[in-house]
Amino acid sequence: MVKSKKNEFKLYDMDSDVQEWRVGNFQRGDSWRSDEIYRCKLCHTKTNNWQMGGWPGMGPRLICPGSGYKEHKHLTELFELYLDIEKDVARYASISSEAPPELKEKSEQLIDNFKTKKELLEFKLNKMRKLFLGKVDDVELLDETAAIRDYYPRCIIMDPDKTLDDVE
Ligand SMILES: [Zn+2]
Repeated sequence: MVKSKKNEFKLYDMDSDVQEWRVGNFQRGDSWRSDEIYRCKLCHTKTNNWQMGGWPGMGPRLICPGSGYKEHKHLTELFELYLDIEKDVARYASISSEAPPELKEKSEQLIDNFKTKKELLEFKLNKMRKLFLGKVDDVELLDETAAIRDYYPRCIIMDPDKTLDDVE
């Protein structure tokens, strides 16, 4: 794990309004710890390890520790499918409310169909999250009283080659 070069024991407030990390004067590749825990919306892995990265501009970023595993890629695909279906439910529920009598029954079946897909995906997503549970969390200098924020991982490891089975 990469350790912060400066202020090893300082915890930074990463609130975008505060931008406290700027005082750290971090360079590309430096890392530091935030005063809150960030939980990946996909796999629920927790981290407070921030890194300076990006190209050409630099900015702080979070890389989900779970994203180095093949299971994360699979989870991402399922999650995208889930988001699509969630949109479909909303779209068709709205159209269905205008359906003429002869289409009423069929359109209700269609909505039920989407809802079943959504439930199935929720089930599968939760099952996959259990594989990650606490296995690759990367939280330091904080205890269980720390605040937890959910985030969508925008930076991920593109071609993971490890699997969670390799984790002790
Ligand atoms: Zn993740």
